[in-house]
Amino acid sequence: MIISMQVGATHEQIEAVSDAIRQQGLEPLVLPGEDRTAIGVPSALSADQRDTLETIIGALEGVNKVTQTSRPYKLASTEFHRDKTIIDVKGVKIGHGHFVVMGGPCSVESHEQFSESARIVKQSGGTVLRGGAFKPRTSPYSFQGLQEEGLKIMKQVGEDAGLVTISEVMSGDMVGLVAKYVDILQIGARSMQNFPLLIEAGKSGKPVFLKRGPSATTDEFLLAAEYVLSQGNPNVILCERGVMAIDRSYTRNTLDLSIVPVLKEYSHLPVIVDPSHGTGVARYVGPMAKAALVAGADGVMIEMHPNPKKALSDGSQALTPEQYISLMTDLQGLARYLGRAS
Ligand code: PEP
Ligand code: MN
Repeated sequence: MIISMQVGATHEQIEAVSDAIRQQGLEPLVLPGEDRTAIGVPSALSADQRDTLETIIGALEGVNKVTQTSRPYKLASTEFHRDKTIIDVKGVKIGHGHFVVMGGPCSVESHEQFSESARIVKQSGGTVLRGGAFKPRTSPYSFQGLQEEGLKIMKQVGEDAGLVTISEVMSGDMVGLVAKYVDILQIGARSMQNFPLLIEAGKSGKPVFLKRGPSATTDEFLLAAEYVLSQGNPNVILCERGVMAIDRSYTRNTLDLSIVPVLKEYSHLPVIVDPSHGTGVARYVGPMAKAALVAGADGVMIEMHPNPKKALSDGSQALTPEQYISLMTDLQGLARYLGRAS
């Protein structure tokens, strides 16, 4: 941590900051500059000390800025956990060295629609079946999902097809219900900082698929993962699904592929990319899915629908079965070329 003092800060103000650091049992390093003084704090700080010091010092007179020089997350970080995490869900490996495809419709709409989707996912080599039963919709008048009925369909179809299932849970009190039916709990982008939900999902012991919030920084994203990890649940999968676009007239969000190598460097957790929500446009999904694989993602989540024109949610970004199968063939070829196991 480095504290930069205001220009003209007095000796007493500099001493007050130094005292606050000493009270934490640390020795301040005072670096007088030509027009302002900087004070360094040794990096071996606990998370509590960091927060306490930042709050106390930030409020002292004469302080210009407090800058953290070490990363705020621990359990999610490569420093803490050197080996890459590989999560095994019913024999499907997610993480380092594996490339997984999670396919399926935005929403579970009926047994027929969902089992047809599962058939296509399975036939094209997929291992994880997605589908929302509780839908976080912008408008309360849009289709909200089949709710528990949707979860029942998902469980039945997933078991029949031999596919691992994933579905969204929107609140802490719903974790038990969703966990009863699905293999992986999805935390949606809008819920990334719903801390009680993260804690409950962590306690459930189920693998948690955490989507990045639409305007979340990398630190905020990894700190959200830290909430789940700190409940003793090591099975967290990170998902980049696009951030707020500066120009929404072409794509729904901006898929931030640069976060993939960043997350891979700073965290040991598996990283999945969702180009469907990332672009919002079916014809852009394929190029961005391939780019995600090249960028080093551990897999992709792709929305498809037996008949996108009839989809009850996100039809414009859903691939048709033909487009989906063709993309899967391309991804498998690319994965082979890159020496990545699927
Ligand atoms: C979804 O996966 O259907 C979904 C709602 O995603 P997100 O939370 O990324 O918007
Ligand atoms: Mn969707």
